[in-house]
Amino acid sequence: MVNLIQDTTDIFRNVGHYAGDLVSPTLRLGVTGLARSGKTVFITALVHNLIAGGRLPFFDAAAEGRVSRVFLEPQPDDTVPRFDFEAHMADLTGDPPTWPESTRRISQLRLAIEYQPQGFWKRQLGYDRLHVDIVDYPGEWLLDLPLLSLDFAEWSAQALQQSVEAGRETISGPWRQALTEIDPAAPADEGLAVKLSDLFKTYLANARADQYSLSTLPPGRFLMPGDLEGSPALTFAPLDAKGESKFPKGSLWAMMERRYEAYKAHVVRPFFRDHFSRLDRQIVLVDVLAALNGGPEAVADLERAMTDILDCFRTGSNSFLSNLFFPRIDRLVFAATKADHLHHSSHDRLQAILKALTEQAMERAEFGGADVKALAMAAIRATREGEARRAGETLPCIIGNPLQGEAIGRQKFGGNDEFAIFPGDLPEDPALALRGDGMQAEDVRFVRFRPPDPVPLPGGGFAPFPNIRLDRAIQSLIGDHLE
Ligand code: GDP
Repeated sequence: MVNLIQDTTDIFRNVGHYAGDLVSPTLRLGVTGLARSGKTVFITALVHNLIAGGRLPFFDAAAEGRVSRVFLEPQPDDTVPRFDFEAHMADLTGDPPTWPESTRRISQLRLAIEYQPQGFWKRQLGYDRLHVDIVDYPGEWLLDLPLLSLDFAEWSAQALQQSVEAGRETISGPWRQALTEIDPAAPADEGLAVKLSDLFKTYLANARADQYSLSTLPPGRFLMPGDLEGSPALTFAPLDAKGESKFPKGSLWAMMERRYEAYKAHVVRPFFRDHFSRLDRQIVLVDVLAALNGGPEAVADLERAMTDILDCFRTGSNSFLSNLFFPRIDRLVFAATKADHLHHSSHDRLQAILKALTEQAMERAEFGGADVKALAMAAIRATREGEARRAGETLPCIIGNPLQGEAIGRQKFGGNDEFAIFPGDLPEDPALALRGDGMQAEDVRFVRFRPPDPVPLPGGGFAPFPNIRLDRAIQSLIGDHLE
């Protein structure tokens, strides 16, 4: 009897090793978020932490000592650029350390994790290696999805309507003014197309600027062109139909309409079909603090962007879009980044604000199906905590090196370049934060810091970067595949 069990076990093990060599399971992990939400920093810190065996108490496989080795493998997709991990590490570990260059296009990196599985059958089958293909792409591109079900006239009407909403009215002024001066039925004119397209792009870019922090509107490639930078494929803009519904061939309207349709067919569709639909897990990074800084309009706008993003994950229920692709993502994590800009007493509050935002967006998107989580984290912690005196009072503060040009509510700390900053508290009730009530302007001014000083290791390389709750993010994204 014992022999029989032994033999059967050996057979499984052999078959398992053979199969395991042929096909290690692969998990495709999407990392996205709007510009400057923290994608590059997150991926670099995550990969470095795993490779260097960082302390990750809430990442079960690591905490239980079951991860034997993590390393990079050649990127399997020849048509997608590789995520430049080494260059980003060089920036972060330079003297002085600098933040790496942000995401501008899609890129990918393959990580191999060797581990001891917990389950009996997995152990027998030799399932001891997981490939994680990390796919980094601009969140702006996801906002293009609604375009697939809008024709040019519908999109134009929607873009015009949004451009006069509170917060956008002033910024969109020059573009709207130009529209009043043209006749969409007049013969197509390339110079005019370029001018209108540039004015529209400037409006979208200004809406994203720090003082407004409005989330972006499509077309996503207007702000994040990727490889299409400067391409004529992006020379179009919505027009004001001025009550007309038919336009002659060869008119400005007809030209813009043709380019809009080409953008959908050659840029938007291939992205969703070839990249997005192949993801298994997705983390969406959200700069909640920047939106809170921007005021109630920026928060409302962020919620709209999150609703649009959630829409991408439920296309299975939309028959028009499910002909094109059917997302297989079964777990979605929204993460509020840069939590190190707050005292730890506010980390749970930041998480609660993001959770409330996510729930509102899920309700609006009538979202169901995939498992959705919200958490607050800092992939790289650039600050430490302390106490400092202000106006005779001892207050909790955060201490770090502010980037040049950042000068709000701070005070010199010690003899070096460090400053103590009183970030203020986020309100306990997330609803207050979302409405912009209960917060003093000073409370929501968040200063940007230099990355922490890198710590060289005796055997070469650098110690994993300090972080806040990075381990929880990793556990939520891949933990169950390492059980
Ligand atoms: P991406 O556009 O989404 O790739 O954004 P990045 O990863 O390049 O991050 C944009 C900027 O946000 C960085 O240059 C940093 O200034 C800041 N940042 C990102 N992550 C963190 C973090 O964990 N902590 C702190 N303090 N700053 C961060």
